[in-house]
Amino acid sequence: MITNVKEQPRQGMLENVMRQFNHAADIIELNSNIRKILSITNNELIIHFPVKMDNGEIEVFTGYRVQHNNALGPYKGGLRYHPTVDIETAKALAMWMTWKTSLAGLPYGGAKGGLKIDPSKYSTSELERITRRFTYALGDNIGPEHDIPAPDVNTNAQTMAWILDTYMSTKPPTERSKNQHVVTGKPIGTGGSEGRDRATGYGVFLNIKFWAERKKISLADKRFILQGFGNVGYWAAYFLENEGAKLVGVQDAFGSITNKNGIKVAALAAYMEQNNGSILNFPEASALDKDHFFELDCDICIPAALGNQITADNAGKIKAFLIAEGANGPTDVEGEEILLNRGIGVLPDILCNCGGVMASYYEWLQNRNGEYWQLEDVMTRLDKKMKEVFDKVYDKGQERQGDMRTAAFMIAIERLEKAYLQRGIFP
Ligand code: NAD
Repeated sequence: MITNVKEQPRQGMLENVMRQFNHAADIIELNSNIRKILSITNNELIIHFPVKMDNGEIEVFTGYRVQHNNALGPYKGGLRYHPTVDIETAKALAMWMTWKTSLAGLPYGGAKGGLKIDPSKYSTSELERITRRFTYALGDNIGPEHDIPAPDVNTNAQTMAWILDTYMSTKPPTERSKNQHVVTGKPIGTGGSEGRDRATGYGVFLNIKFWAERKKISLADKRFILQGFGNVGYWAAYFLENEGAKLVGVQDAFGSITNKNGIKVAALAAYMEQNNGSILNFPEASALDKDHFFELDCDICIPAALGNQITADNAGKIKAFLIAEGANGPTDVEGEEILLNRGIGVLPDILCNCGGVMASYYEWLQNRNGEYWQLEDVMTRLDKKMKEVFDKVYDKGQERQGDMRTAAFMIAIERLEKAYLQRGIFP
């Protein structure tokens, strides 16, 4: 895999999430004891495990799972397979999950993990063995009522199916079917939910739509650029295009392309299937220097790849009037300050991409209750829940005359504070 867009040093992300947390905690005057608890992670697991490669050689891999907080329910969060995964990244992403599930009003805590690998270097059968051995090594550190992983960068429904099968196989026969909700984001034939595939991108789209409605802006003919054309990016673009907006620039791990007259989302997706998952050389667009991607002329910018992409280096050059964060932590604190000072709207990650964990919750509920919900049911619930959460954050922002990230963090932290104050601290 070509890692085209550089991520800043890992500390950056952890520092960012802590600064975002502390800023909101100061404003709500968070109980100082609860601040201590929320500032650290509950559990951090680093595991090394061996796997036999196709050529018979053994390779040793490193996996991570960080469980930040479970005051509101079982730990929840994705597994990422990427060379940038390390303990600091996992800690930052786990914290964001806690704020996200709390903000969304879900009965979950926050976790995150993954493997420090470049999956493009392995065959499918190697990836299957790596995933299964990782699952086995995680053992009962995950579980359907304890810690529930889901897909993230470079993992998908197939990865979840392997995890599910491995996890269930380690249980006694009478226990197996009780464990189907150990992961979410599964294929539909394996206990997955209708709509989970599109839920995060759809939620990003809904947030943009709700924001535009409040600002009395039509999305028809608005131009948007997208970093990351994977699960989140593709579906966000799909729904925006349906609304009449025009995709004018895309960047992925392989390169950047632009066409000011519009790039057809379906045509680009079809092209990528034939081109090893890369957007490079897409015939209906021209190539663009990666360092100039965020400067493209557009109205809306959707970072939907990795963290720390919008920083003090490029925030001053962004032309969009709205940033919709599909990715987790794509904007650092300095970058955001510049955007806000320039009057650019920011739909913060914990709000903007929370459609994914909402649909994961619906999948988990269906598995737990032995139910099957139709696509329309899932989408209707998502619409309603996303609107509720968006309105809460937007109104809080307006009330304070402040930014939406701080508003979102305030709501999320207040819910956790209340739970701790009600329960007290054992013993
Ligand atoms: P994905 O693996 O499906 O897609 C990732 C995309 O990012 C691909 O287009 C890839 O080429 C691109 N990418 C990877 N490395 C890159 C790099 N170095 N530079 C530029 N582009 C790069 O992943 P996804 O599930 O779409 O996740 C994308 C982001 O959204 C992540 O930050 C993830 O944490 C966040 N997110 C995902 C979900 C979900 O449900 N999948 C939910 C909430 C948040």
